[in-house]
Amino acid sequence: MSWVARHLNGLFVAVAAVLILAMPDIAGNEYALRFYTLMLIYMILALGLNVLVGFTGLVSLGQAGLYAIGAYTAAILATRVGIGFVPCLVLGMVFAGVFGVLLAYPTVRVRGVYLAVVTIAFGIIVENIAIEWDSLTGSWVGISNVPKPTLLGLPMNHKVYFYFVGLSALIAFAVNVNIMNSRYGRAMLGTSQSEIAASSLGISVTAMRTLAFVLSAVTAGAAGVLYVFLNKYISPDIFSFSDSIRFLLMVILGGAGTTLGPVVGAGLLSYLPELLQQFGEWQRFVYGALLAAVMFFLPRGIVGSATDLLQRFTSRPAPNRTASSGKSIGEIVGVETVGAGNCLEARNISLHFGGLAALNKVDANIGSGKIHGLIGPNGAGKSTLLNAVSGIYRVSSGRNYFFGEDITKMKSHQLARRGLARTFQNTEMFGEMTVLENVWTGFYSDYRTGLLSAILRLPAYRNEEEKFRKSALDLLEFVGLSDSAFEKAKNLPFGFQRRLEIARALATKPKLILLDEPAAGLTQSEIDDLRDLIIRLSEHGITIVVVEHHIELVMAISSHITVLDYGEVIAEGSAADVQADPKVIEAYFGSPEMLEHVAGDKNSGRSAPEGAS
Ligand code: ADP
Ligand code: MG
Repeated sequence: MSWVARHLNGLFVAVAAVLILAMPDIAGNEYALRFYTLMLIYMILALGLNVLVGFTGLVSLGQAGLYAIGAYTAAILATRVGIGFVPCLVLGMVFAGVFGVLLAYPTVRVRGVYLAVVTIAFGIIVENIAIEWDSLTGSWVGISNVPKPTLLGLPMNHKVYFYFVGLSALIAFAVNVNIMNSRYGRAMLGTSQSEIAASSLGISVTAMRTLAFVLSAVTAGAAGVLYVFLNKYISPDIFSFSDSIRFLLMVILGGAGTTLGPVVGAGLLSYLPELLQQFGEWQRFVYGALLAAVMFFLPRGIVGSATDLLQRFTSRPAPNRTASSGKSIGEIVGVETVGAGNCLEARNISLHFGGLAALNKVDANIGSGKIHGLIGPNGAGKSTLLNAVSGIYRVSSGRNYFFGEDITKMKSHQLARRGLARTFQNTEMFGEMTVLENVWTGFYSDYRTGLLSAILRLPAYRNEEEKFRKSALDLLEFVGLSDSAFEKAKNLPFGFQRRLEIARALATKPKLILLDEPAAGLTQSEIDDLRDLIIRLSEHGITIVVVEHHIELVMAISSHITVLDYGEVIAEGSAADVQADPKVIEAYFGSPEMLEHVAGDKNSGRSAPEGAS
């Protein structure tokens, strides 16, 4: 059973290849074969759209526009310029890809439903151009007399063309599978689940979105070209808004984010209208009702929900504990020990949210190789300070330096690549991915091989994949999460999620880690483990900043402490200095008597009261 599950994609390709070879004979007549060719074209389109919708979590309702751009490019080049089929295919893909880049641009600013509106607008514009640019597109009359496709100078008959499209579909499927199981697939999935976590691992969210748009545009363009040479004629009504909806439905109905889903969805939605003809004028009603019913009972699509079900009955792979054997962090990710001096320096930084000064002229020096505590009542600006130095917020004024380099204007993913890692106060997991995949994603920037080697599964790429998979398992062992490696991250208990975040941050080979309330929600024994972990990291030369309400923990491990209140530094120095500072006592406890009260309670392991100001 689990063997089948593991080799599902390979088995599918084998079965599909046999089916494609036999199909011209099964189909019997030209009309039927034409229908199956069209079905394969939709599968290609749906597979490309899956990269956008399923992997990257972006909704496009303008895919018919890209399909049209591929189709018109080919039709115009073939009829006016007399270019052959293969160059048309290439140019159609390239041209559609360019529009993919243009479409990706708005994602820098707009998300979710707003992005869907942008894609709808794009589809409408393309449709309108096809109608109005008469001299180029022939308006409603369209372009006819598209020549027969040729391959290597020889004309292709229906059967050969079907095989060509079939092979293209198999390639599209293989590319889909290979991207999904690569660092790009994990990065796309990561950005769809938590943008800030992905960028904290050195992944450029904009680059991932652009890549997804381009890949889906190129495949839509290819599908358009293949369609034109099948139909020999195009007109604007073939690329309407309702086609965009149908393409999106194919992906979602089949199962977005699965590799087989788009294939199943495209097959079903191509076939369904034929099947429903017997219902006469109720055809559309039945169509709608069926869609609604499938989505109600199988919310993750047909293949998505089936996989979930299958996973419940198959045993998970046992974590391979033999492979990793208690390696130190230096052995796993090769952390470089850094010399003395300042690791991070915030100089006079201020940050305003509207009228509120969340940070006001803050100076902070984080000594290299040290553990640095950052404390203060709730709302003091601690998380804001971490966000301001790690590229998530832009400071209103002041400058930040990382090992002497001015990083004030840098983005989160750029800083991550320089060795600045972090965790989040409200954990930011890639919930739908496994624990192992979460950490594996952290190695994103460390790969030397690129997209092409990932798509082609070149040996160099596979070696790197295996290497980082092992390192990820080692890291999980290092933080004590080996047993949960194949769980979905969202199913982990809270304390484990915190540890997973640290393991994932370690995968980026950090020189500095910012921990935002790592002990919040942990039990006393988990806090003890955390303290040991932080000390072990520090011993390997990683600089650490800990924001924590658990005062005992901070006092025990920090060599230097900064106290924030109302966005200003009110005290700093050693644990003893800070504890004795009247301003700190005032900010934290309101009065010295409160402190004594809490200090007497020391062994109970409770955090200091929050937000007493
Ligand atoms: P801490 O981490 O010390 O508890 P924060 O840095 O989260 O405090 O918040 C500092 C202040 O800035 C608070 O008053 C908070 O309400 C405000 N703040 C934080 N983030 C935002 C934001 N994104 N938009 C507006 N105000 C914010
Ligand atoms: Mg906070």
